[in-house]
Amino acid sequence: MQSQSVQFSYEFFPPRTPAMTRRLWRAVGQLERLNPNFFSMTYGALGSAQQISIESSIAMHQESPVPVAAHLTCTDATRDETNEIARKFHRAGINRIVALRGDSSTEGRLDGAYENAVDLVEGLKRIADFDISVAAYPEVHPKAGSEVHDLQNLKRKLDAGADRAITQYFFDADCFLRFRDRANQIGIEKPLIPGILPIHDFDKVSSFSQRCGASLPLSYEVLFKKVKHDQQSQYRLSVDLAVELCERLTCEGVRQFHLYTLNQTDMCFDISLALGADVSVFKIPSAA
Ligand SMILES: Cc1cc2nc3c(=O)[nH]c(=O)nc-3n(C[C@H](O)[C@H](O)[C@H](O)COP(=O)(O)OP(=O)(O)OC[C@H]3O[C@@H](n4cnc5c(N)ncnc54)[C@H](O)[C@@H]3O)c2cc1C
Repeated sequence: MQSQSVQFSYEFFPPRTPAMTRRLWRAVGQLERLNPNFFSMTYGALGSAQQISIESSIAMHQESPVPVAAHLTCTDATRDETNEIARKFHRAGINRIVALRGDSSTEGRLDGAYENAVDLVEGLKRIADFDISVAAYPEVHPKAGSEVHDLQNLKRKLDAGADRAITQYFFDADCFLRFRDRANQIGIEKPLIPGILPIHDFDKVSSFSQRCGASLPLSYEVLFKKVKHDQQSQYRLSVDLAVELCERLTCEGVRQFHLYTLNQTDMCFDISLALGADVSVFKIPSAA
């Protein structure tokens, strides 16, 4: 059993090269030792990337004792195509889906596609009794009409049958706590799991955060500047900041975290250990 108090899930992305594939499996092997709640595999934006996502989710499900949640987006495929992928996951034994609208690779939604994530959740529930996670945005989705609309959209996804929401990453605990309060006020009672992004590369995170509407505290810029030329100190700083953020959240009752691994696990491993994950009780799966 993992630590009684705090539980973890870890998100990976599909590998595109043999070297990336090797890194993914090393990462999976390392994080399995922490007995996580589940692993998740993101869904690529384009055709070939989507195929690799599907294959990677199924391979992970077959190779790892940890339950796998396959991400699935819906804007770039017809309902029938999306349903067929969901059925493929189900046939392969995957019954956890992270259901997402996705960002269309062209302008606008494809004709015949699910309209949005609410519509997708409803469609998935008609196919099988999937365990469904959806996305939530503590700092509001950049394309949302308003904060209120964004939160009501989250409620609709949960009311349609999703079991929990995983948030976009954020770096300010108060931002998540205010979001949780607002969600509770409109009657959202299902778990809201904070998405935590360890900072592997400050400049990359900084530019990506601008695009996805996540704020980086000014203090982070100052802190990372000070250790710019010292990789070990950067690593320590990233781990410390993530642990500090999660500890603040655990003080407010949060018991589950979803870590965005970027397929690099040393940092996620160290953060999880610092928060109480227990590596000593790992059960080695019996050889198939
Ligand atoms: C935990 C998590 C995992 C993710 N995994 C993946 C993944 O594997 N693959 C991937 O491609 N993306 C992924 N994303 C990104 C996600 O697909 C985008 O954020 C997408 O824009 C919205 O998806 P959604 O399911 O939240 O959409 P919805 O719930 O349908 O919408 C969320 C909010 O965004 C607004 N909105 C979104 N798109 C539009 C639009 N085009 N026009 C108007 N309003 C819009 C909605 O009005 C609503 O307020 C992930 C995000 C999170 C937080």
